[in-house]
Amino acid sequence: MQRDSLSRRSVLSLAGLSLASAGVATGAQTSYHSQSAPGATDDEHVTRESFQIMEGTEKETTVYVTDAEADGPTVFVIGGVHGNETAGYIAAEEIAEWTIDAGTLVTLPRADVVAIDRGTRVDDDGIDLNRQFPEGSEPQTELAEAIWDLVVNLDPAVIVDLHESRGIYAGNPVDGVGQAIFHANRDEDRTAADSAIEYVNDNYIDVSERAFQTGYFSGPDSEPTGLLVHKAARELGSEAFLVETLSTENELEKRVTWHSAIVERLVEDELFPNEEPNNGHEPEEPIEEEPDEPDEPPADEDDDESGDDVPDDHTDPVAEIRSDPSSATERTLEPEQTITLDATCSEAPDGELVSYEWSIKNDGTFNESGKTVDVTVSASGDHRVLLRVTDDAGASETTEVTLTAA
Ligand SMILES: [Zn+2]
Repeated sequence: MQRDSLSRRSVLSLAGLSLASAGVATGAQTSYHSQSAPGATDDEHVTRESFQIMEGTEKETTVYVTDAEADGPTVFVIGGVHGNETAGYIAAEEIAEWTIDAGTLVTLPRADVVAIDRGTRVDDDGIDLNRQFPEGSEPQTELAEAIWDLVVNLDPAVIVDLHESRGIYAGNPVDGVGQAIFHANRDEDRTAADSAIEYVNDNYIDVSERAFQTGYFSGPDSEPTGLLVHKAARELGSEAFLVETLSTENELEKRVTWHSAIVERLVEDELFPNEEPNNGHEPEEPIEEEPDEPDEPPADEDDDESGDDVPDDHTDPVAEIRSDPSSATERTLEPEQTITLDATCSEAPDGELVSYEWSIKNDGTFNESGKTVDVTVSASGDHRVLLRVTDDAGASETTEVTLTAA
C-alpha cells in the first residue's frame, strides 16, 4: 500500500495539528522542537525531529520523527504501552534512531511512562492503556486520546505495537501468547507477518519452542477490545501489527534484537524500498553469544548422541556388548551372580574409540567406564545395562542389554 508521504513541511503541520487537537481535546500541552534530536546526524539524507505529547503532565513523553529525503509512506512504531514489557520500549528507542531510505518513521517508544516507571503493566490508576482504544468511539483516557490524535494525524500506512508476554499459550489471546505477530485480518497484513516470522525464525531462533507464530487480532465481537492496533486497522485502514516476545525465557538483548528484526521486515517495503534494511541486527553481524552457550542450530534429528560438531559424512561408532558367560543375557541369573560385560568388540569406522561408559544401576547415568565392567545382579527382576562408546571425533553410540535375575 502506497500513500502520500509526509514531507518535512507536512511533519511541521502535523505537529501543529497535534498541538491544536491535543490542546482542545485534552487540555494537555503539546510542543514541537524543530531542532534535531541530540546526537542525531543529518548527513544521511534524513532529518530527525521530536516533540512531546502530554507535555507538562506526569505522562509527558517524546515522539521521534525521522523523515527521509525520498518520498514514501509513513510508519508508526509504538512501545511501552505496557510498562513491564521492557524489550518493546528498548527496541522502539533503537528504532527511533534508524536511518531510513524513504518515507517517514514516527516512533513513540515510551507510551506510558508512569507504567514504565512503576515497572507494571498498568499505570498508577490501574489503567491498561491497550484497552483504551474502543472501535467506533473515543479513546477513554487523556493519554489514549493524545496517542490516537497523533495516529489519526499521521494516518500511517503501517502501525507496529511492541509488547512482551510471559508465557506460551496461557489462554488469553493477547497475554501469554509466547512469541508472535498478531495482525489485522487482511491478506497483505498476513503476508507481511508470515514473511517477517519466517525471516526471524530462520535467522535468529534456534529452539523450535521459541519460534514466532502469527495470528489475527480478535474479531470485533470478542475480547480483548480496545487495542490501539485494532482501532488503527479498522478505522484508518493501516496495516497493523502487535509483536510479542517471550520475556520469561529469553535474554533482554535477544528480545530487543528480535523486535528490531521483525519491525525491519514488516516495514521494509515502506522505509527500505531500494535495499536490504541495515539498521537492525543483521545476522551476518556477530550476535552477542554466551561463550559456553553458542547459538548453533540444533544438531540433526538423529537420536544418537553425536556431538554438534561431528561432520555430516562421519560414520558413527558401533557399540556392542558381549557377556561372560556368553549366555548371560539370554537366561535367568542367580541372585548375587556377577557377570562380566565386555565392550572390546565395539568399533569406530572413522577413527578410534576414546571412551567406554556404562550405566549399570538402572538409573540411566553413566557412572562406570572401561572396556569391561563387572555387574552383580543383586535383586530379582530385570537389570538394564547401557554402554556408550565415543570416538575421537566426538561421535557416540549407545546400546543396551538386560540381565534378568530370579
Ligand atoms: Zn503488552
